[in-house]
Amino acid sequence: MPTPAPVALITGISGQDGSYLAESLLADGYEVHGLVRNTTEENLRSLGTPERLMLHSVDLLAPDALEQVVREVKPDELYSLAAISSVAASWNDPVQTGAVNGQVVVRLLDAAHRLQEEHGHPVRLVHASSAEIFGQVAETPQVETTAIRPSSPYGASKAYAHLSVGVFRGRGLHASNTILYNHESPRRPEAFVTRKITAGVARISAGLQEGLELGNLDARRDWGWAPDYVNAMRLAASAPEAGDFIVATGISHTIGDFLDAAFGRVGIDDWSSLVSVNPAFVRPVDPAEQLGDATKARTELGWQPTVDFETLVARMVEHDLELLAR
Ligand code: NAP
Repeated sequence: MPTPAPVALITGISGQDGSYLAESLLADGYEVHGLVRNTTEENLRSLGTPERLMLHSVDLLAPDALEQVVREVKPDELYSLAAISSVAASWNDPVQTGAVNGQVVVRLLDAAHRLQEEHGHPVRLVHASSAEIFGQVAETPQVETTAIRPSSPYGASKAYAHLSVGVFRGRGLHASNTILYNHESPRRPEAFVTRKITAGVARISAGLQEGLELGNLDARRDWGWAPDYVNAMRLAASAPEAGDFIVATGISHTIGDFLDAAFGRVGIDDWSSLVSVNPAFVRPVDPAEQLGDATKARTELGWQPTVDFETLVARMVEHDLELLAR
């Protein structure tokens, strides 16, 4: 009898990370189940229609829907990625953000715990936590024990889910938090500043856009390559011990550095006349700097980032130039 394929269930499969995660799991022979609202999403198209990929249309907020799908699918690994994933969007709808990013994760934890306790099926759950749980950071760089004191509805919702993962871990569930710092790729939507910059730079270089309006150019972020961060989630799922793991490069850059790298890619060295600061995009309670220390992930999970900042920006700009050329 051939060994059955391991089964993974992903919420948020249509997002940047969900689509990379599904690709990675399918390549390793997993049966992958994804929960979706809209199966026409661009990122889902990149997955094709392999036999081992099953998409389930589920309203994450509908009572009992999650428990039912978890009971049916019986995942060995459960990845909780669905979220209102932008800080700006969370200010527009803090209540919905709490429901999707917080309550839904607790429902998943409860469903996984019940599957394990009542049906004897062990589940390993990984939650996409965020550097935003640290808010106005108490120390730099941040480590797993840095004080949790979020400064946005997004950060608060992630903190609730993050702490709940610890609660269910205490009840015997193999549940981990990957505390993700900003990670980017050509699959980032333009609602995020990095992609807004690379898409804008591509259009400016093609004469299709005059300039870019941005927020605080001095904000410092620790930016990594999305597929590396998805790899950290998989390593957390297969680790002997569940835990909380900072996933970061340990190097921060300003938005200005990002602009230097992006404009540099299209041969523009002085971008000062092409970029203006619009106060509407400046969010005063945003942390000035986020910088993660991923020593624990490196030593306990054997994780390391593989793509540096300049390469990451270059890949995004080149992708946006290609899109224009099509
Ligand atoms: P993303 O591209 O915005 O994807 C978010 C996913 O959540 C999408 O599949 C989206 O589905 C789904 N979703 C949102 N609201 C939903 C709702 N009400 N019901 C059902 N599904 C919903 O995010 P990402 O960049 O891949 O991030 C993955 C996870 O990592 C998120 O939890 C995010 O908060 C966390 N994280 C990301 C970063 C980062 O830098 N990327 C950093 C820290 C933490 P639709 O396609 O239908 O909208």
